[in-house]
Amino acid sequence: MTTNSTAATVTRGSCTCGANTFEVKAGVPMQRFYCHCLYCQQFMGKPATDVTFVRAKNIVIHAEHATFNNPKVLPPGFAHGRGSRFGNPDKGRFAKCARLNRGRCDECGQPFIETIGGSAGMVFIPSGNFEHQDALPPVQRHIYYRLRVQNVTDDLPKHHYFASSQFAIYRMISRLFRRP
Ligand SMILES: [Zn+2]
Ligand SMILES: [Zn+2]
Repeated sequence: MTTNSTAATVTRGSCTCGANTFEVKAGVPMQRFYCHCLYCQQFMGKPATDVTFVRAKNIVIHAEHATFNNPKVLPPGFAHGRGSRFGNPDKGRFAKCARLNRGRCDECGQPFIETIGGSAGMVFIPSGNFEHQDALPPVQRHIYYRLRVQNVTDDLPKHHYFASSQFAIYRMISRLFRRP
């Protein structure tokens, strides 16, 4: 155990420019999914978001150059009524995967990391922000698939609606608490 360098004992990553970084402890359980919710679409600027998440206790975040937001309403016109059966068509009432604090880099403007629940909670990371993609688990499923911009032709489970998407997330979270 004395020959392990620091680099070998963590999985690192950053925003696109590298101003903000994170380190995940080696060997901790991670879960990964595609989210098609409108808030992820807006934050990422992509039709679907490839997200990997870990327990907050297993990651160190250096976000001195990031700004975090937890938007309640989508930009005007963004939702186009999708995901909103009542009220404000831009609010996307049933279209948010979680109340995430979404951190964007102040320097490069790219999505960096998302947190929920503080130190006892979870941290969601755009999978592309990991330095080594081969350190990531396989993608498990699609959630909020009914809000998709594009059809996907893989064989992964696809959860269309709010309840089944949330239940899928809870099950993935529960796996992070299992002993190896
Ligand atoms: Zn950056
Ligand atoms: Zn989402």
